[in-house]
Amino acid sequence: MPELPEVETVVRGLAQRVAGDVIQSVWLGEKPQTFKSPPPVIAATLEGARIRSVRRMGKHIVFDLEHNSRGAAHWIVHLGMTGRMLVSPPEAGLEKHTHAIARLASGRELRFVDPRRFGRLSVVQDFTTVGVEPLEISFEQFAPLFRKRNTPIKSALLNQKLLRGVGNIYADESLFRAAIRPRRRAASLSRTELRRLYNAVRQVLRKAIAAGGSSISDYVDVEGAPGSFHFQHHVYGRAGEPCLRCRALIKRIVVAGRGTHYCPKCQK
Ligand SMILES: [Zn+2]
Repeated sequence: MPELPEVETVVRGLAQRVAGDVIQSVWLGEKPQTFKSPPPVIAATLEGARIRSVRRMGKHIVFDLEHNSRGAAHWIVHLGMTGRMLVSPPEAGLEKHTHAIARLASGRELRFVDPRRFGRLSVVQDFTTVGVEPLEISFEQFAPLFRKRNTPIKSALLNQKLLRGVGNIYADESLFRAAIRPRRRAASLSRTELRRLYNAVRQVLRKAIAAGGSSISDYVDVEGAPGSFHFQHHVYGRAGEPCLRCRALIKRIVVAGRGTHYCPKCQK
């Protein structure tokens, strides 16, 4: 599932390529679960709108739209597990599982492709979402999120009402770098440990953005290129392999229903 760094990579690619462009017409597929707003409303909102900017909020892609007659609106895309937003020349062959196409005045097409169909498209007047952006907060804003929480720290990191955009991969990688066991109760973390975790989450997310995200399952950026951060994973997906720091074997357990990877020696 695309997490913050993958969505950020897609958003940067989209911002470079389609900001300022105008959506001339829209084609929407027939699979109803892809559309969180009624398809006719999505089409009416997008057609004729200028894409003022493209930005990320948590794991959502937000297209800020301007429309001469209807004013401002937002087109929200959530990639779900396998969703992709591609910027394609019109002559490029249509991929299987294409659910939406926005034809742009520049001649290119924005295509939403999603084989497993957990992705969602919607349009809204105002877009707000809960949680805070991990790369935009100070340590003084970060530490209180975990106070009095009796859930495992891994679950707290995955809780989108606290931090936006951190998913399974980056939670495991951050906890390894902070030397904290995923099952530790969030409230039991000392201030020093929270400081290490704060630094680790930000470092992991920044490095992953710089690498264009992690490509597991079928994540690719807007031009279909994979990211490379999975080559820097220390624990995620490495169960049974030696820890890169101490050579102990990486363990896999289940926390919050998710496969969780950690080093039993390095993480306390
Ligand atoms: Zn280790």
